[in-house]
Amino acid sequence: MTEVLSPETVEDAVALLAEHEEAMPLSGGATLIAMRNASLVEPTHLVSLDRIAALRGITRTEEGGFRIGAMTRHCETAACADLTGSFYVLRRAAGMIANRVVRNMGTMGGSVANADPAADYLPALACCDAVLDIAGPEGRRQLSILDYVEDWYETALEEGEIITAITLPAPVEASSTYRKIARVSGDYATASCAMSLDADGQGLRVAIGACGPGPLRDRDGEAALRGKLDDPAAVAEFAGRLVALADPVDDVRGSAEYRLRLIPRLVTSVLSELTQQKEMA
Ligand SMILES: Cc1cc2nc3c(=O)[nH]c(=O)nc-3n(C[C@H](O)[C@H](O)[C@H](O)COP(=O)(O)OP(=O)(O)OC[C@H]3O[C@@H](n4cnc5c(N)ncnc54)[C@H](O)[C@@H]3O)c2cc1C
Repeated sequence: MTEVLSPETVEDAVALLAEHEEAMPLSGGATLIAMRNASLVEPTHLVSLDRIAALRGITRTEEGGFRIGAMTRHCETAACADLTGSFYVLRRAAGMIANRVVRNMGTMGGSVANADPAADYLPALACCDAVLDIAGPEGRRQLSILDYVEDWYETALEEGEIITAITLPAPVEASSTYRKIARVSGDYATASCAMSLDADGQGLRVAIGACGPGPLRDRDGEAALRGKLDDPAAVAEFAGRLVALADPVDDVRGSAEYRLRLIPRLVTSVLSELTQQKEMA
């Protein structure tokens, strides 16, 4: 029998997780309840984050970025008209998660905590240089999304810690999008690409999903590519660097070899989409 506890503050949630050794945080429950029902996890207590007002909402920060509360549902992110320019990629990713039922249930904090290598938010957040706000028994801390995933389903989240928010830094002037290759609409990605292209057309940020334990980002490669986006050889070289960083697996959604082939195609086609958008604007 699993007991559900419903604290109203982050501090109480952290204290309850520390008090009960086999307790787990519960957000939307889209993944956790299915895992619990299949006996893949057997927590004695579920610490529901649903009544914690501080974990809700998408608000602007003083720096001009955004603070997205961990309990923000995928449907809220997908509908947030303030997420424009370099942050539009997040709206696109949220709108491509599964189906309406899952988007109404699932939360950004729960998805990031779950750290599925094929999840849609991880590359989108990597492309935004997002920072995770974390609370735990040792207090509060922040962590770059780029340092978050350590191995397959292993993250830098310590025992008893919860994600309280995802902070997006001040936006750069850019357009962005997210593309996902999946077997059928609504499935997890076989491979995905989050990209933002600077308004001056000189630089870009790219993160690849589902081709390794965490999102792939090559910031040195992005710097080397700056100003050369109209040179196909330079773009191909950059895509090759991402392929070299990748560590995909064979699974039901595609072979490792197929995923490696998708990376350069995603990079060139998403770049071409953003470039065309810029030319038409
Ligand atoms: C049928 C189906 C299809 C899906 N398809 C996709 C898809 O295409 N793309 C995609 O990206 N995702 C997909 N998902 C996953 C979906 O996005 C989930 O909502 C998400 O993975 C978990 O979010 P949640 O809020 O429901 O978390 P929960 O299920 O409540 O929790 C998930 C895990 O994270 C932990 N946790 C929850 N919140 C926190 C927190 N704030 N801090 C620390 N730990 C926490 C829980 O203890 C648990 O281990 C799918 C899920 C289902 C059921």
